Amino acid sequence: MDWDVAVVGAGPAGSTLARLLASAGVRVVLLERCPLPRYKACGGGLTGRSLALLPQQVLHIVRVWSRQATVSYGGHLSVARSPRPAVGLVLRSEMDALLADLAVRAGAVLMPDSAVTAACREGDGVRLAVGGKALRVRYVVAADGSTGVFQGPMGSAVGLGPCAPRIGAVEAEVADPGGAWGTALRGDFDVVPGGYGWVFPKGDTLSIGVASWRSGVGGSQLRASLSRYIDLLGMGDREVLTLRGHPIPVGGRLKLRALYSACALRVGDAAGLADPLFGEGIAYALESAHLAAPVLIAALHADRGSEALRPYAQALGRQVYRTFRVASALSRAFYRAPGPWIGVARVHASVGDLAWRWATAAGRLPGGEGFGPAESSW
Ligand SMILES: Cc1cc2nc3c(=O)[nH]c(=O)nc-3n(C[C@H](O)[C@H](O)[C@H](O)COP(=O)(O)OP(=O)(O)OC[C@H]3O[C@@H](n4cnc5c(N)ncnc54)[C@H](O)[C@@H]3O)c2cc1C
Repeated sequence: MDWDVAVVGAGPAGSTLARLLASAGVRVVLLERCPLPRYKACGGGLTGRSLALLPQQVLHIVRVWSRQATVSYGGHLSVARSPRPAVGLVLRSEMDALLADLAVRAGAVLMPDSAVTAACREGDGVRLAVGGKALRVRYVVAADGSTGVFQGPMGSAVGLGPCAPRIGAVEAEVADPGGAWGTALRGDFDVVPGGYGWVFPKGDTLSIGVASWRSGVGGSQLRASLSRYIDLLGMGDREVLTLRGHPIPVGGRLKLRALYSACALRVGDAAGLADPLFGEGIAYALESAHLAAPVLIAALHADRGSEALRPYAQALGRQVYRTFRVASALSRAFYRAPGPWIGVARVHASVGDLAWRWATAAGRLPGGEGFGPAESSW
């Protein structure tokens, strides 16, 4: 074998897993189709869930710490505030390059500009085609995101099952000279059918996006909604630096058997791990990497046969999918008619406060400092 493990995709899931494996002495190669740093359409919002699992170095590249979110529906604005930072905002290009670098410093071999184009089982491992060359590895990890190659026949070629449903999202990076917008987050629940629009500040740019949970709301409708939304925010004349559509794999419905095989497993978006209520995915990409690492290490140390990676899928089922099932049910009810829910939160501050606490996941920063609502108000 050339490597013990090949991790395909250097997003937060892949780079974190590569770092954890390399730190334990596993021979790991991290294959990324793009040169790094690379752009990724993403609000870059880090909640307490993400920050608890990220290395401390990430704190130095947070562009904006936000303590406030404005939620709007039907012309009414509600504001949630926290005395402590509640969401950290990063540029994904910077964060993902940093995480890949930390994986390299731990001993992983990073191959940027190296798209995996084919995979098949060979003996007790996998043969991958990477830029015209073949790599033989014991285990392959699909960390290639929601549109990656393991979503299709390549997934079945290494024994992985069909993947999660996805919702549509479109995001623009809009210039905000001098950071005039400030640090508040914004969510508008009436700018796109069955979804929401957001503004996430990054200092001198704003990530402005829309996503819809409703089937049949396609790319052109989302783009039109985004354009109207940007106008509504009074930013129609701003320079749009990037505009990208990208699906979000809202989790909760993937069969555990689809997550692993005798020689492969899925992590992050490739495993359908975005939160069904708001589409937060970085935290679950990180969590899946943390759950996968010990299982892969154990499988490499003692050959446990074709079910060696099953404990990973079981752990994901217990720790993530259970919560996602509840969030899925809430999400269906909420996006069918957000008005009454937001109305209740407006009248009963405790409900709005609960939603804000849940969304930001108060906790401790990696350095130990308190993070998120301590005495929040809604
Ligand atoms: C518009 C939008 C806004 C979002 N905002 C937020 C937010 O604010 N907060 C949050 O927590 N989540 C957010 N998400 C979700 C979040 O972006 C994802 O859940 C997260 O990026 C998943 O990480 P990942 O490592 O699994 O995959 P990705 O970050 O998608 O990384 C996958 C990597 O695999 C590489 N790759 C793909 N195919 C191949 C191949 N064949 N060979 C080699 N490499 C390959 C890709 O180039 C990429 O670098 C948002 C998503 C969207 C679409």
